[in-house]
Amino acid sequence: MRLWTGLLDLLFPPKCPFCGSVRDKPEICPACWKALPWTEEARSLRELEGGLRCAAPLWYKGIVRDGIRRFKFHGAAASAGPLGELVARAAAERFPGEFDTVTWVPVSAKRLRRRGYDQSRLLAESACRCWGAAPERLLRKVRDNPAQSGLSGAAERRENPRGAYEAAGDLSGKRVLLIDDVCSTGSTLNACGEALRAAGAAEVVCAAVAFPAPEEA
Ligand SMILES: [Zn+2]
Repeated sequence: MRLWTGLLDLLFPPKCPFCGSVRDKPEICPACWKALPWTEEARSLRELEGGLRCAAPLWYKGIVRDGIRRFKFHGAAASAGPLGELVARAAAERFPGEFDTVTWVPVSAKRLRRRGYDQSRLLAESACRCWGAAPERLLRKVRDNPAQSGLSGAAERRENPRGAYEAAGDLSGKRVLLIDDVCSTGSTLNACGEALRAAGAAEVVCAAVAFPAPEEA
């Protein structure tokens, strides 16, 4: 793994995920850190429609939107390091002692083949590295529903991911932190939360990099 990381550094030098400036290690540069649209204390935690709670440190706008889009759609997989650390911080602040395992919202096999990586899995791996742990694959996407970003109606977005995920095995008593990149309507997280609970999970809390900015929600 270390050799591989070294090779990647040579081919793709570490960059700030938001402005793309080259850094010594994958990190958010000080200028972006200052300019980032942080969700302030009271709004960094949201209760989703199905009752799940989700924490996110940033608003999805400006440099955050650009950075996440590069991360998801333009191969900037290395951004998972610093973005995952942000997710870890938000989860640790908002849900201390409330979860004992970490998983992610998986992409479909088809999308994984096309993109080459599962962005939320990378975020979960990076978040877990902060805690000296590793995420568990607890969910599987069993239906290739249309991307949420391509749907316009709120009702459509709410229904679209329902039943698209299945949990693996018996999760009796597990308290799960579920990680995704952006928490928009929360319907995808809800669908995953329902699958985890159906498999016996005792608790599900969620964390993402960003919430939709209030004026764009
Ligand atoms: Zn930057």
